[in-house]
Amino acid sequence: MCSADVFDKLIRALGDMAVTCREDASFAELTTLGTGGKIRLAVFPDDLRKTVRTLRLIDQLAVPRVVLGKGSNVLANDGFFDGVAVVMSATGVKTHGRSATVLAGTSTVYLSKVLREKGLCGGEFFACLPATVGGSVVGNAGCFGQDVQSVLRSVTVYKNGKIVHMGAKKCNFSKRNSVFRRHPDWVVLAAKFTFEVGDPQQVERNILRMRRSKALSQPLEFRSAGCVVYHESVALSKLIDQAGLKGYAVGGAQISTKHAGFVLNIDKATSLDIYLIIQHIKETLWDKYGICAKTELCLVGWKDDDDFAKRQE
Ligand SMILES: Cc1cc2nc3c(=O)[nH]c(=O)nc-3n(C[C@H](O)[C@H](O)[C@H](O)COP(=O)(O)OP(=O)(O)OC[C@H]3O[C@@H](n4cnc5c(N)ncnc54)[C@H](O)[C@@H]3O)c2cc1C
Repeated sequence: MCSADVFDKLIRALGDMAVTCREDASFAELTTLGTGGKIRLAVFPDDLRKTVRTLRLIDQLAVPRVVLGKGSNVLANDGFFDGVAVVMSATGVKTHGRSATVLAGTSTVYLSKVLREKGLCGGEFFACLPATVGGSVVGNAGCFGQDVQSVLRSVTVYKNGKIVHMGAKKCNFSKRNSVFRRHPDWVVLAAKFTFEVGDPQQVERNILRMRRSKALSQPLEFRSAGCVVYHESVALSKLIDQAGLKGYAVGGAQISTKHAGFVLNIDKATSLDIYLIIQHIKETLWDKYGICAKTELCLVGWKDDDDFAKRQE
């Protein structure tokens, strides 16, 4: 537990830096699932300099922190988080020929708008994510055969108080994974992408096709965090469906009847409700098919989720 003095000092210093701070925030309002406990302090640094200074200050004071984009891949514990949520709020896109350099807090939908205007293709999937660019890099997000790793060239990262540049290779991308998921203390500040030159109208058509397909297959009218589990080589939602789990509910959470990979916050669900459903999905896939599913959601404030994988080894 951090002392009140430390937080007072932090809030004063952030105030001097004109960083927006809130002491009444909760994960429920900062995540798309709409679940999770209260947070001692949420901060919203809205340019690159403020972001780096904020991170350095928090680290110097040894205050626990979690970084959030749009919270569209986060399942946070229902308990109180006695630390700081740094909500990545610095936004901006600069294009140069086929390249785009993007600040981490930029929404992926905004990036896709810029790409459409410039007629750059290969990043149409960004239009389908309710995410920030930084969060999409962390989870190597993707859909419809496109993903971050196929367009990312390099990232600028806050690492142990320093700013470093990392080429795409060093990000160790694999399905819905990257080196950043294993190093939650590293913070993606910006990303550089290279796209293919195309026709703006074709890019627009691709985006519309992808969005239509998502709307038909996914329960976008409910609060969720997308697919909750994944496997490197097996499409799990079909198996979850085959296992008869569609509609399975705990408390206010339910496995979608439209898309079996989604767990929905139907009626005032808690994070624990959702967590228990994910465990049930994983146990069922293991028992019925011998498949060890991995949790796709980033768990904040839970004990090591790899426990499940270890038990199956
Ligand atoms: C309706 C819906 C549909 C979805 N469809 C897809 C899909 O088709 N494909 C797909 O891949 N995903 C999908 N998702 C999941 C989600 O949108 C992606 O994983 C997205 O990339 C998360 O981005 P975010 O900004 O919301 O990150 P958050 O959820 O805020 O954070 C995710 C993780 O990254 C960390 N993080 C965030 N920003 C940074 C940063 N700048 N530096 C370091 N760490 C950071 C957080 O601490 C957390 O661990 C979907 C989600 C929803 C709700």
